Amino acid sequence: MRKPTRAREVGRGERVLPGAWRLRLPLELPGVPHVNAWALQAGDGIVLVDTGMHQRGAMRDLERALDRTGHRVEDVRLIVITHGHIDHCGQAPPIAARAGCEVWIHPKFTDLVDRKRTIAERLEIARASGVPEDRLRRWADEHEESNGIAGTLRSDRDLLPGVELHTDLGGWQVVETPGHTPSHVCLHQPDHRLLISGDHLLGRVSLYFDVGLSPDPVGEFLHSLDVVDALDARLALAGHARPFTDVAGHVNANRDLVADRLDAVRAALAGGPRTAYEVAREISGEDYTREMASWMLTLTHAWLIHLEARGEAVKAPPEGEDPAEHWTRTG
Ligand SMILES: [Zn+2]
Ligand SMILES: [Zn+2]
Repeated sequence: MRKPTRAREVGRGERVLPGAWRLRLPLELPGVPHVNAWALQAGDGIVLVDTGMHQRGAMRDLERALDRTGHRVEDVRLIVITHGHIDHCGQAPPIAARAGCEVWIHPKFTDLVDRKRTIAERLEIARASGVPEDRLRRWADEHEESNGIAGTLRSDRDLLPGVELHTDLGGWQVVETPGHTPSHVCLHQPDHRLLISGDHLLGRVSLYFDVGLSPDPVGEFLHSLDVVDALDARLALAGHARPFTDVAGHVNANRDLVADRLDAVRAALAGGPRTAYEVAREISGEDYTREMASWMLTLTHAWLIHLEARGEAVKAPPEGEDPAEHWTRTG
């Protein structure tokens, strides 16, 4: 029997501005076909912002993308990471070793690099959320193998406000933008009004929040939207898909989507106590698929925690045989 074949995507590089290139690196993640890294000319070398994930052929994809920009891995003078998700930082160790350069990341990145621990925690959360046991086991099996990080990721310098990146386009400033994950930063180039926005702002509005690493990810995200809005950038170089203008419009679209989702959760809780799993299924409707289940449950937790922080919902501990927590609307 012939197996269906599909040409594997390869790394690509394209200039977005004089001295700035988009490196489009393929990803083996469901629903996320590629991630962007950015090469910024800096004297006789480049600053590399984000690295792609550690997966089969990752270094070759990066080499190929860089080749299209006239650079080589050995030209990388510094690696800067927008946030500690594997698709953005997983290849940092081998690139740094080969180029002999430093890696700068926000100090909170360590929260996510221990992926085994993360999986165990997510399983605990899912169990307390009322996800059926057979689904939990299947999810754990599917995630056991994947890793996405090559070796151990260490930061040579804390990527915090006040740190400036020097490139031919000018200086880039670090702007903390927690919410998507606590270690998220954007990079801002004020003279050209550029923003490297990572996963904080994407061209096609799509939300995700890490839960359990900070008190209220949604609240933090909304604050980070205000911070980025005030920068008045005109072009965003996002972590996935194409660069986009109308940064203010995208900020507003994110605010609107958050408001819409919170309303959906309020409506779900209006029917009486619900587990997070029940809320997730209710607010996702037909979008709730096996592939997206873990993602949607985490997102639902983020909404519930935000309503709790606002004093609009409370969580009751498990009772009797049922291991699940139930959420109730207050006020
Ligand atoms: Zn991310
Ligand atoms: Zn991403």
